[in-house]
Amino acid sequence: MNENLKDKYNRTYKYLRVSVTDRCNFRCKYCVPTHDFEFIPHGKILKYEDILFAVESLSQLGIEKIRLTGGEPLVRKNISYLISEIGKIKNIKETTLTTNGSLLSKYVNEIYDAGIRRINISLDSLREDRYEYITGGFKLNEILDGINKAIKTGLNPIKINVVAIKTFNDDEILDFCNFAGENNLNVRFIEFMPIGNNVEWKKEHIITGDEILKIISKKFTYEPVKKGNFEGPAVNYRLSNGAKIGIITPISNHFCSECDKLRLTADGKLRPCLLSDNEINLFDEIKSRDFAGFKEKIKESLKLKELDHNITNDGCTAKFKRTMSKIGG
Ligand code: SAM
Ligand code: SF4
Repeated sequence: MNENLKDKYNRTYKYLRVSVTDRCNFRCKYCVPTHDFEFIPHGKILKYEDILFAVESLSQLGIEKIRLTGGEPLVRKNISYLISEIGKIKNIKETTLTTNGSLLSKYVNEIYDAGIRRINISLDSLREDRYEYITGGFKLNEILDGINKAIKTGLNPIKINVVAIKTFNDDEILDFCNFAGENNLNVRFIEFMPIGNNVEWKKEHIITGDEILKIISKKFTYEPVKKGNFEGPAVNYRLSNGAKIGIITPISNHFCSECDKLRLTADGKLRPCLLSDNEINLFDEIKSRDFAGFKEKIKESLKLKELDHNITNDGCTAKFKRTMSKIGG
């Protein structure tokens, strides 16, 4: 069936990120704008049964892996129900989740029982004051407790997402490598993208993947690690302290030619590319359970998929309509 989800550049789509809400308890400086920001009205947010129709339909077209994201997916009531229902869909091999970690202590057992085994947790600083600053007032200790509880519950692998930002956390790259080694966690450094709160983004803030590796090599030797199934765009390394590190370079080294990912927003739009505002509105087809119409529109959306995006370390003139919290990363 996979031929249905191929684009004109011969890329096949197997991976769907589903933003279950644009709401978030955090206000990360780079993600949520400080001005002119409105949440999607409740009536326009897909209900769980709508999401299940969309996932089931896409699974019939070749999607095999689902990542739930947001906003903060754990703020949506009874997310475990959605997780376990997605797990019952025949062609879905795995459901994962990306979270800011703040509600993990409370929900980790529940989401584990519902079927989550791998998880990504965002953590941009290991210093209390910086963590509070970047998240809009949240306590580092609570997130570390959540991570510990996730380890104890048996989630594996746990990937820690670090947005690398010059002048904010560039002096913590080695601390994160130690943290990964000591706790058997996989830390992934992500280049800072100009999407979200554009006011906070300047090209001078990007630390490129090469720069990150250079910093790492001051203290550690490293060797490349081969990618497993569904590993995504990170280039992975094993460091001499045993840490597994991933580097994700959407800006300095585009990975668009390997893209296998589509995104469904909480208001029912299919966004074929993170870094393009092109979207196809599936809301009506989802609400009316119109599989034929849905399938036609999915094919249309794949035509919107460009071969590459045009953001580089030299800068970005694009202004994106959606914030990252309204896309899901
Ligand atoms: N709330 C959840 C979280 O923070 O993990 C899930 C949604 S969040 C939008 C998904 C990921 O996008 C997070 O790892 C976050 O750090 C990342 N992100 C948000 N804005 C970004 C930006 N401008 N550049 C790079 N990564 C960004
Ligand atoms: Fe919320 Fe995640 Fe955005 Fe932070 S990065 S504001 S936690 S959606």
